Amino acid sequence: HNIKKYFPIKKKLFSKKKEFVKAVDGVSFTVKKGETLSIVGESGCGKSTTGRVLMKLLDATEGRIIFEGQDITDLTDDEIRPLRKEFQMVFQDPYASLNPRLTVKEIIEEPLIVHNIEKSKRADRVIELLEVVGLNRYHANRYPHEFSGGQRQRIGIARALAVNPKLIIADEPVSALDVSIQSQILNLLKDLQEQYNLTYVFIAHDLSVVEHISDRVGVMYLGRLVELADRDGLFGGPLHPYTKALLSAVPIPDPTLRRDRIILKGDIPSPADPPSGCTFHTRCPFAQQLCKDQVPEFRELGKGHFVACHFAEELRG
Ligand code: SF4
Ligand code: MG
Repeated sequence: HNIKKYFPIKKKLFSKKKEFVKAVDGVSFTVKKGETLSIVGESGCGKSTTGRVLMKLLDATEGRIIFEGQDITDLTDDEIRPLRKEFQMVFQDPYASLNPRLTVKEIIEEPLIVHNIEKSKRADRVIELLEVVGLNRYHANRYPHEFSGGQRQRIGIARALAVNPKLIIADEPVSALDVSIQSQILNLLKDLQEQYNLTYVFIAHDLSVVEHISDRVGVMYLGRLVELADRDGLFGGPLHPYTKALLSAVPIPDPTLRRDRIILKGDIPSPADPPSGCTFHTRCPFAQQLCKDQVPEFRELGKGHFVACHFAEELRG
């Protein structure tokens, strides 16, 4: 709730003023058990930082993180350890996140050792996990570089599943993969979710990737959530001009359903020096004076459909 993560910027000597990059600036959401909540936005919008704060890999500057009713925001490393196995992370680049000097068996075994699983049980568990993700025992003694990108991501997923987590935060797990492989991995994640009743926070920079796996989708821009809705609400009736622009860039197979293309002007401003008011006003085709002066409230416009835009009602019609 109300998560903020500011990173200090190195300032020139003798400057007293402290400056911060507001990587995440007041983001609030709840993830329901068993659902997939996707967080989408362009690079630098703060989505990965949000994921890392949720995982307690980074401490929040402000805000609370509640896990199953327990406020875990201020827990020390020792206190958080028993909870650590409940949430696991799958990373974007399975090559960078898998230690190249370890065999697949050692990689998957690592979390089992950390969480004190007996040695006698570990070998069987590793084979079981390999099979669960579509690999097999013959892969166990090989090294990450011997595998394709898709297979490496399967190894990363096996490792994340090793200690039976409840929540998996997947940070762009398919962005580095070919489109045909992407859908295999997405299907695998979906199957695993049903099988193990997993909850996912799925981070992506592309709305088309998350359409089929999401129950709800949040869109982030410059450290803030600008829209949050269930999948059909977001894809069928987007309210925020930024969401509309992202959606209009997604190719649709049926040309009669074509959405009007919204081309955004300019680049994303630096999070170190975000625009006033609605931070999207420098690129929004509908911006007016009010947008520069006032931060739009993140408000509920339809049931469970939240948006941060002064003119959401007008633009809907
Ligand atoms: Fe555009 Fe203004 Fe809405 Fe921001 S508040 S999205 S600038 S219309
Ligand atoms: Mg990222």
